[in-house]
Amino acid sequence: MMIPVRCFSCGKVIGEHWEEFEERARDGEEDPAAVLDDLGVDRHCCRRMMVSHRDLVDVVSPYQ
Ligand SMILES: [Zn+2]
Repeated sequence: MMIPVRCFSCGKVIGEHWEEFEERARDGEEDPAAVLDDLGVDRHCCRRMMVSHRDLVDVVSPYQ
């Protein structure tokens, strides 16, 4: 599925950072922790949203 717009725990908007995070952190180009620091995602609850997310929307959408 797509990344939730807001952090489940604190409600901070994190969806706006997903595309840049994925692009920069994919393939190990940059350290994911450094990218999150750079994007201003500093709380642990928000960081776990980004780190643990997996985009499955393209996999699931044909079955809806
Ligand atoms: Zn949060």
